Amino acid sequence: MDLKIPVTQKGNSFLSEANQASGETIQACFQCQKCSAGCPIAYAMDILPNQLLRHIQYGHREKVLSSKTIWICASCYTCSVRCPNNIDIAKIMDALRNLALHSGIEPGEKDVPVFHSVFLDTIKSKGRIHELSLILQFKSKTKDFFKDAKLGWKMFRKGKIKILPSRFGGGKEIQEIFKAYEKGERQ
Ligand code: SF4
Ligand code: SF4
Repeated sequence: MDLKIPVTQKGNSFLSEANQASGETIQACFQCQKCSAGCPIAYAMDILPNQLLRHIQYGHREKVLSSKTIWICASCYTCSVRCPNNIDIAKIMDALRNLALHSGIEPGEKDVPVFHSVFLDTIKSKGRIHELSLILQFKSKTKDFFKDAKLGWKMFRKGKIKILPSRFGGGKEIQEIFKAYEKGERQ
């Protein structure tokens, strides 16, 4: 990547979109690379965190939203803590995942967004996670029925996967949280 090209905010609607979605000031990044140097998942990323921010500054919307990086980021916040400009990169990653989900752009990691949405659906409907429902929904969406079957069976035999969800009294409150979030998103 050519880092000599001056960053321009003018006409860069993706920079404004990402700033607005994350609440961060991405143009403040001066490419010191401290975020990428401390990232424990950097080895598996297709675009390093500092490079991702540079792409946003250049307005490369499709490249950023189709990257693997935004989906394999583990939200550990190491980068956010290390940034000398107090840029919350983990929060930006979260906002980018949300933008990617609504963009129609094909994700770089297909199964991870599916897992995210199934995970949230399970929490929304049951108030807490129920592994068996999650696995069944995930498998029916990815059509990959046999991957990890051995591990699943092993977990079932050890009692780690319950047939029925455990009782949880906070289901209504959780649904209220989802409703409030969805209402806020529509406004
Ligand atoms: S939050 Fe994501 S990008 Fe930041 S250090 Fe952790 S894994 Fe890396
Ligand atoms: S640590 Fe902060 S300023 Fe440095 S490259 Fe990462 S985001 Fe940019």
